[in-house]
Amino acid sequence: MIIDGFSRVHDYLRISLTDNCNLRCFYCMPEEEYTFTPASKLMQADEIESIAKIFVAQGVKKIRLTGGEPLVRKDAADIIERLSKFPVKLTITTNGTRLHEFVDVIKKAGITSLNISLDTLQKDRFMLMTRRDQFDRVRSNIDLMLSEGINVRVNAVVMKGLNDHEISDFVAWTKEQPVHIRFIEFMPFSGNRWDSAKVMTWQEILSRVSDEYDVLPLDREKHDTAKKYIVPGHQGTFAVISTMSAPFCGDCNRMRLTADGKMKNCLFSTSETDLLTAFRNGEDLVPLIHQSIRDKKKALGGQFTTDMGKIETSKLENRSMITIGG
Ligand code: SAM
Ligand code: SF4
Repeated sequence: MIIDGFSRVHDYLRISLTDNCNLRCFYCMPEEEYTFTPASKLMQADEIESIAKIFVAQGVKKIRLTGGEPLVRKDAADIIERLSKFPVKLTITTNGTRLHEFVDVIKKAGITSLNISLDTLQKDRFMLMTRRDQFDRVRSNIDLMLSEGINVRVNAVVMKGLNDHEISDFVAWTKEQPVHIRFIEFMPFSGNRWDSAKVMTWQEILSRVSDEYDVLPLDREKHDTAKKYIVPGHQGTFAVISTMSAPFCGDCNRMRLTADGKMKNCLFSTSETDLLTAFRNGEDLVPLIHQSIRDKKKALGGQFTTDMGKIETSKLENRSMITIGG
């Protein structure tokens, strides 16, 4: 078992397959011109499999593939197939643009649940937020996944003045379809133009929904990052990922591996452990993994608190979200 200094058992690994992406969400990518990591510097498919196997032997029970956009990687299908052989719950976070090419792969891998990101239900706003004309494709791929019986969780980053007035439209969507909307509080990363004034908090989101609907809270499951709710009579649910206003670090079980093979013990950790170089040098990764988790800070990578007004983005030490893997 991988346990940190606060007795938290870590059994969930998120692996970024690439820092490349076919969308350009401004809150995720750094502001300056960005060059994607060349393929030779990324973990190769066999390296991902071998490193993941070491984590599984240490007690990992769930693996999520993310990125960048994991499904733009040419060998994504091969990697999914390799990891599906492990005794873990395998899942993916994707922008949804390529899902129609992966229906068979997903089914064969036994994947039953996907996180698909969609911040707006309006085509022109999608273009504004992602700088790509892919709204119809993403929307139809969500329907495709639902028709295939996949449990779909829709991730929507909510920002004041940009898409906050769509909150109730998202909740209306849960009436007829079993989609699980997850409103995400806007988080600060290197070069992402974060501003506390743009953060729509959990309480504000909830109050906005409550203006229009009766809302019932759902039970929290262990390690849940989302506070979950249902509108009685609706087929789907909605939730808020309140990282900024009410973080869920207390029972965190997550570890991250960046596409270039660096282990991060927290989304906001300042330090990284270079597992890929160690692996290529034939070193034993087990002590490195345990040491990384022993060094984990109690909350939010030790970098800030819920007092958002005090966050100075220029002082945060982190990669941009696209290079970490959300
Ligand atoms: N490309 C895939 C996607 O968009 O789902 C996977 C990677 S993306 C980095 C993972 C998740 O992180 C997405 O749901 C995205 O909206 C979220 N995300 C990115 N930047 C964020 C930020 N600054 N604050 C909150 N969530 C963010
Ligand atoms: Fe790409 Fe996902 Fe980041 Fe958008 S949120 S730029 S889709 S990695």
